[in-house]
Amino acid sequence: MTTSPTNDTDDAGFLGRLRAVTREQAAVLREVSLAVDADPGRLPGLLGTELPWQRFAGLPAAYNPDPLRVDGHPVHLDRCIEQVVVWEELARADAGIALGLPGPAMSGFVLTELGDAEQLDRYYRRLAEGPVWTFFGMTEPAHGSDPAGMTTTLTPDGPAHDGGGSGLVLNGTKRFVGNGARAGIGVVFARRRTGPLGVVAVLLDTGRPGFSGVPLDTIGLRALQLGELRMRRVPVAEEDVLGRHRSATRQGMWAATRTFNRYRPVVACLALGVAQAAYDYVALHRRDVLARRDGAFGEFGEFAGRLAGVRAMVLASACAADRDPSDGTLASAAKLGATRLAEDITTAAARAFGPGARWEHPLLDKWVRDARAFEFMEGTSNIQRLGLAQGYLHGRLSDDLAA
Ligand SMILES: Cc1cc2nc3c(=O)[nH]c(=O)nc-3n(C[C@H](O)[C@H](O)[C@H](O)COP(=O)(O)OP(=O)(O)OC[C@H]3O[C@@H](n4cnc5c(N)ncnc54)[C@H](O)[C@@H]3O)c2cc1C
Repeated sequence: MTTSPTNDTDDAGFLGRLRAVTREQAAVLREVSLAVDADPGRLPGLLGTELPWQRFAGLPAAYNPDPLRVDGHPVHLDRCIEQVVVWEELARADAGIALGLPGPAMSGFVLTELGDAEQLDRYYRRLAEGPVWTFFGMTEPAHGSDPAGMTTTLTPDGPAHDGGGSGLVLNGTKRFVGNGARAGIGVVFARRRTGPLGVVAVLLDTGRPGFSGVPLDTIGLRALQLGELRMRRVPVAEEDVLGRHRSATRQGMWAATRTFNRYRPVVACLALGVAQAAYDYVALHRRDVLARRDGAFGEFGEFAGRLAGVRAMVLASACAADRDPSDGTLASAAKLGATRLAEDITTAAARAFGPGARWEHPLLDKWVRDARAFEFMEGTSNIQRLGLAQGYLHGRLSDDLAA
C-alpha cells in the first residue's frame, strides 16, 4: 500500500510529513559534503549504508526494495509535487550529492513518456541492479542545448547486428551531461532526419562499443560530475529507439520538452534548497545579522519572505507539471525566482561573515559555487524569461494560478 492523499488538505499533511522524514534522512549528505566536493570520485564508495540512495531514487515499486516510507507506507516519488518536497530537503543538505545519487533522474521522465513495456523493464531492471547512474544527453559542444543545431546522428549501418533489429549507428558528442562518465544507461538525443521532427531519443547502455564518458572538471555542483559523452559508430537497434511506433510529432523533441517542463520545478527546488541552507547557516552562526535592517545586512530582512514565496511558487509549478506537462510556464517562473534567490542569499551569506569568509567557511564557498550552476542547468534565465513571456501572452499563467 502506498500513501495516497484523497484531497488537498490530506496532501498538505502528507507532504509535511514527507518533508520531515526526508530532512531527517538527508542529514547524512551534509556529513560528506566537503569531502565529495573535493573529490567527486569518492561518492560511489559512500553509497549503501552511508548514503541510502534507493530511498530517494524514485524507482517504481516493482524495482525498489528500499523506498522512502512515511507513516510506515512506501512513497515512490512518482509525482512532481513529491519530488520537489524531497529534493529541496536533499539539496538543503547537499545539492551536488543529491544530483549525484544513482537513479533515473531526467532520463526516467523520457522513459515514462516514450518507453514501451520492454524498454521500461530493461531500463528499470538495470537500475535495480544498482547502484547504477543514468544520463540525459542533449547538450552538444558546438550548439549547446539548441536542438536545431544538433549534430549527433543516428544513421543506418547496413545489415542487422546482434541477431535482431535493423542496424543503426550513433555518432556525436554530448557535453555537460550530469553523471555522464559514471552512468550505466541513459537516453541520448540524436538526429535521424533533417528538420525539427527528425530528433529521436535512444535508450543506450554505456557498455556498447564506441561509447566513452569522460568527467569534466567543474566549479559548482561538483558531486554531479558533469561529463562528456563520445559516441563513435555506437551500434543501436530499432528496439533502442524510444517511441518508435509513435508519429514523428510525438517522439524525441516532444518528450524532451515535457521532460524539461517536469524537471524544471525540481531544478528550482534544488536552488531553493541551497538558498535555505545558506540562510540556515547565517541563522545559526550570525543570528545578529538576521535581526539587523541596516545598510549591508538590510537584505536579510527580506530573505525569509522570499524563501517562503519561492517555495510556494515551486510547489505550484510542481502541481502544474503533474496536471499538464506540456505547459512549462509556471516552471519557468519558479526556476527564475529560485535561481535568483539562491545567488542572492549565498553571496549575501558569504558577505555577512566578512573578509576571508569563503576561505574560513568552506560550506559558504561551496554554496556560492553551487548556486551559480543552477543558472545554466535546464536553461538560462533569459530562456526562462522567454518561456514565461510566451506563456503569459497565451494566457497560461492565469490558468495555472487559478487552478
Ligand atoms: C549543473 C549542470 C547540469 C547539466 N546537466 C545536463 C545534462 O544532464 N544533460 C544535458 O544535455 N545538458 C546538461 N547541462 C547543460 C545545460 O542544459 C545547458 O548548458 C543549458 O541548457 C544552457 O544551454 P546552452 O549551453 O545551449 O546555452 P544558451 O542557451 O545558448 O545560452 C548561452 C547564453 O546566451 C543567452 N541566450 C541564449 N539564447 C538567448 C535568447 N534567445 N535571448 C537572450 N539571451 C539568450 C543565455 O542567456 C546565455 O547567457 C547541464 C548544465 C549544468 C550547468
